[in-house]
Amino acid sequence: MDAPEEIKSRLDIADLIGEYLPLKPAGAGAFKALCPFHQEKTPSFYVSRPRQSWHCFGCDQGGDHFSFVEKIEGMEFREVLELLAQKTGVELPKFDQQKASARKRLQEVNDLAVRFFRSALAQLPQAEHARQYLKKRGVDDLTADLFKLGYAPNEWTMLSDALIKNGVTADELMQAGLSIKSDRGQGVYDRFRDRVMFPIADVHGNIVGFTGRILSEDKQQAKYVNTPETAIYHKSALLYGLDKAKGEIRRQNLAVIVEGNMDVVSSHQFNVNHVVAASGTALTIEQLALLKRFTSNLAIAFDQDAAGNAATLRGLDLARQQDFSISIITLPPEAGKDPDEAVRKDPEIWKDAIKHAISIMEWIYRQAFRNRHAEKPEDKKIIAREVLTEIRHIADPVERDHWLKKLAVDLGASEEALREVMGKQKGDTRYEIRNKNTKTEPLPRDHQREFEQRLFALMLYRLEIWRTGTQELVVTSDEWGEAEHTALYTVLLGRYPVEESLPATADPFSGSAIRPPAGLTPDETKIFNVLALLGEQTFQDWAIDKLRHELTVGVAAMRRLRTTQERTRLEDEMRQAERVGDTARIDELTQQFKNLL
Ligand SMILES: [Zn+2]
Repeated sequence: MDAPEEIKSRLDIADLIGEYLPLKPAGAGAFKALCPFHQEKTPSFYVSRPRQSWHCFGCDQGGDHFSFVEKIEGMEFREVLELLAQKTGVELPKFDQQKASARKRLQEVNDLAVRFFRSALAQLPQAEHARQYLKKRGVDDLTADLFKLGYAPNEWTMLSDALIKNGVTADELMQAGLSIKSDRGQGVYDRFRDRVMFPIADVHGNIVGFTGRILSEDKQQAKYVNTPETAIYHKSALLYGLDKAKGEIRRQNLAVIVEGNMDVVSSHQFNVNHVVAASGTALTIEQLALLKRFTSNLAIAFDQDAAGNAATLRGLDLARQQDFSISIITLPPEAGKDPDEAVRKDPEIWKDAIKHAISIMEWIYRQAFRNRHAEKPEDKKIIAREVLTEIRHIADPVERDHWLKKLAVDLGASEEALREVMGKQKGDTRYEIRNKNTKTEPLPRDHQREFEQRLFALMLYRLEIWRTGTQELVVTSDEWGEAEHTALYTVLLGRYPVEESLPATADPFSGSAIRPPAGLTPDETKIFNVLALLGEQTFQDWAIDKLRHELTVGVAAMRRLRTTQERTRLEDEMRQAERVGDTARIDELTQQFKNLL
């Protein structure tokens, strides 16, 4: 029997699901409950003991032990396998055990640090100002417990000494990012001093790092200090609070994205539980992949000063390209500057603001009119341009029409004139938003470029990953959007046909220093070197399973992006064809559209 079968035979599915949901008997060997995967008032989620399976008749999802835990925990299959193997005492074939145990050890070290910071906050006389700070911000004990908030004393080696006494080595302290090597002598000193400590958990609740907020008024010091990138802490792949918010995000089918950790903490204290924080509003591809496990709907709460800023909107491009549906939360002026302040003033203000989040189109529309005079010709032109840039990319013709009509009325312009302006807007200006300062910043290109560079760098980082990408996922040259990537990839594929096994010495991917293969042009060599370097910087210390996962997610994202772009192109052509009434072309495009989907 293989491991999954063995696990299933040892663990009754009703017992397993019963740990997550209150199951009620529903006939012979059957149980029912309210479905955790969609909102409902009467139970349509059934578990069958004889068949050892589950199914929801409301949202038509179902499966076995593994699919249930995958969904409810937002885990990958491998992670579920490990979890359930541990639960049932089934031994798994060894899998990169050394790396796995190194990661586990770093988590242990972090757990010890959490305990130290917690007790420092509770007991140290010098932590009084930290206790006062949390009290002033209205954080109650339960919430402080839930988020494991702590205090890093204003000492140089107190944490390091305490953990070393607990059997942690200085090396481990540095690997965990908790301590820094001392310039003088052999010792290490504490990275976090005199700060309120926010432990950062991964999606499963493992503590992987910390953010420390300053307490003193010292302007010389950074307001926030974070754990540096470690083997388990990857800032761009984390969302603060997701481990606690994921269940509610799925139930509400909506994730609320805020900027500050305190916004999350305060929200949870008042039972607004589907809130997570990203550092800034520019969500990364990894963060989006995480969120996608739970929902495709995001409600974004911008910092009030940042709202209306072109850069803020651009931060959402990646999410928009990934087919997330996005709404914007606006706090009323009297609510304060961020969700944290709003919640403490009155939780209902915050709940209300979430409820009344508006679509991104609506938001852009309002922004365009803000602080401008629609009757002035100059302003009129700017408003029209900003809004039309968005309108022309609305896929649904009825919705497009709605906004055009509205804009015509609000600007006192004719629809014909607006259509003419829109017709003149050419090229990929989709994410080009004109700021009040008339600075034009085309957006998706940079993002796409960055994203592709990272993916390419990942493929070059390890031969195994290259092979997985070229052979298993069959990434082809034309899937790269950047011409230089297509070109380099073609050369590499040609040089190293996938079926040919490479002698180690000729292998450009072997060894610690990646060298470009012979025969590249100087330009190609340059690009290769940049990518190789990026790979080393980004993926150092990543375990192979994490690299593989990253690759799978990245390639899928690139493919989705391509499809979206192709769809946009077809829609544009379709509109063109409709305008001139070219029915043959319309038929042809419709067919292409169908093929794409
Ligand atoms: Zn359901």
